Amino acid sequence: MIYLDHNATTPLNGQVLEAMLPYLQTFYGNPSSLYRAGRVVRSALETAREQVATLVGVQPTQVVFTSGGTEANNLAFKGIAPVRKIAISAIEHPSILETALSLKQNDVFVDTVPVDSEGLFNTQAIENLAKDGVEMVSLMLANNETGVIQNIAKISKSLRKQGVIVHTDAVQALAKIPIDFNQLGVHLMSLSSHKIYGPKGCGALIFEQGLELHSLITGGGQEHELRAGTENVAAIIGFGCAAELAAKSLASGQKKILNLRKILESELITIPGLQIFSEQQQRLPNTVQFGLPDIDGEMLLMQLDQKGIAVSSGSACSSGAGAASHVLIAMGVEQALAKSAIRISLGQENTEEEITTFVQTLKSLVSIP
Ligand code: PLP
Repeated sequence: MIYLDHNATTPLNGQVLEAMLPYLQTFYGNPSSLYRAGRVVRSALETAREQVATLVGVQPTQVVFTSGGTEANNLAFKGIAPVRKIAISAIEHPSILETALSLKQNDVFVDTVPVDSEGLFNTQAIENLAKDGVEMVSLMLANNETGVIQNIAKISKSLRKQGVIVHTDAVQALAKIPIDFNQLGVHLMSLSSHKIYGPKGCGALIFEQGLELHSLITGGGQEHELRAGTENVAAIIGFGCAAELAAKSLASGQKKILNLRKILESELITIPGLQIFSEQQQRLPNTVQFGLPDIDGEMLLMQLDQKGIAVSSGSACSSGAGAASHVLIAMGVEQALAKSAIRISLGQENTEEEITTFVQTLKSLVSIP
């Protein structure tokens, strides 16, 4: 298989697996137990917390481990002291969109920040949020479909001054671009392990010291009373290891991946009518999403699958649903073109040969000689 869908998930890194195995086999103590077998696991858990904290430039006490990016997004919104008005952008991941919708049912007003045709947040709409009484916003750092990177540091600087709480979903940006929580200036930030070659079912919410946050899951006082339940030890240790590896290889790894993307894009643009979405914008080094007139994206995805190539027709969560990408629709892309969209997200193990094979296969499927 040629795997070109790393924004959906990444393969587990071999070193990460090695780091996890002892905590599935030998060290099975409960990290909350006071005897030695528990303390050994507690210590490993705290090392993982440090590794994740280091990757984003915070103190370990600012990290709460969750079951993934989805739970971190839920905790950000629902764990904050009750607010009456929130805002999200139109291109957020379903774990933000649906969470906002569920709050709406509890009489919370929800504003939506539109994007322009390039997928950038409308700055005027953001400037008006505080005046409109919005108390908390969630604006993603990088989009999972187009890869567009937003200027969150600038946005949060102005919103923070006006007393608005800022959350950013940094799930897709993590380990693809450098992230410094303090430089971003946000109050809350969501992360996920399986997008950075760590295990699935693990993530974290990063929060500003002193911010009032409440647990959504009640029980024992784990995770500094912010998430009850015995920790998913092996997964957290895997996430920590993946974070440490990412910190070491981020610059060189992403340079290689960007190079591959440039080769890919130079080939793609030779296909008549092909349009790369947000082409001129600053995007994640690994991501390119394109549309092809008169092509059904889901059908093309299946045909590529038959040839052993895995791509996405949008975000993994909406694949198979048959609906056009809400991100592209928010950007004003016409329905038919949005429905033709294919997203390629490259990863560490991809090679130039794989790119060549993909482009040749794509061209043969869309009948380009
Ligand atoms: N946020 C974004 C931007 C994502 O792309 C994803 C996953 O695709 C998530 C959140 C959810 O993360 P998880 O799969 O860890 O729940």
